[in-house]
Order: sequence, then structure tokens, then C-alpha cells
Amino acid sequence: MPRRIQDNPRDRIESGSWRTVARPVDWDARREAVLARDRSCRWQEAGITCESTDRLEVHHKGDASDHSIEMLVLLCHRHHAKITGQQSAAARQAKRIPRQRPAERHPGLLP
Ligand SMILES: [Zn+2]
Repeated sequence: MPRRIQDNPRDRIESGSWRTVARPVDWDARREAVLARDRSCRWQEAGITCESTDRLEVHHKGDASDHSIEMLVLLCHRHHAKITGQQSAAARQAKRIPRQRPAERHPGLLP
């Protein structure tokens, strides 16, 4: 009987972890493949690639649960923090509850 993927303890979310999406069992191999392919930060700004090798991290370009190599990119710590900060701000903004009531006219205003 084939082993079910969720039976692998490495697929589970670490307890107390901030991580909300489990990594695949071969995450280390995927990370190494992205490191070998990209070699330095791939962040681009005004047509210039960062190319820093400072604390390199693997970033998910699309959905955090899509771990395909094409959807992973190497970023330096600074640029990874920048993009994840922008994404969490956008997520917080998307979750905001719109005003339920229309703004009331100030009672002291003359008609
Ligand atoms: Zn960078």
C-alpha cells in the first residue's frame, strides 16, 4: 500500500511555527535546486538585479502551497522581508471589514 503523504511527519506543520503551509518532503532538494539555479538574489528594481548573497532565502512567487521549482525564487533576506511585508499588508487590507453604515450627516449642519 502506498504511503499516504500526510503520514510523513515532515509534511506536518511544526507546532508553534508561524508557517501556515506545510513544506513538501523533498523541500531540502528543491531549495538546493533553486540555490544552484539562481545563486544570488533575483530581486529586480528598475531593470537591475540585486545579486546579493546575504542570507539567501527561497521565496514562493505565487501561492505558498505551490512548491514547484518554477514558482520558487532566491531572494536575499532584505528583499524577502520586503516582499513578504508587502504581501501580509495586502492580506490584512483584503480582510478589512468595509463600513456597514453610510457616514451620517453632522446634526449641527444647516440644510
Ligand atoms: Zn536582494
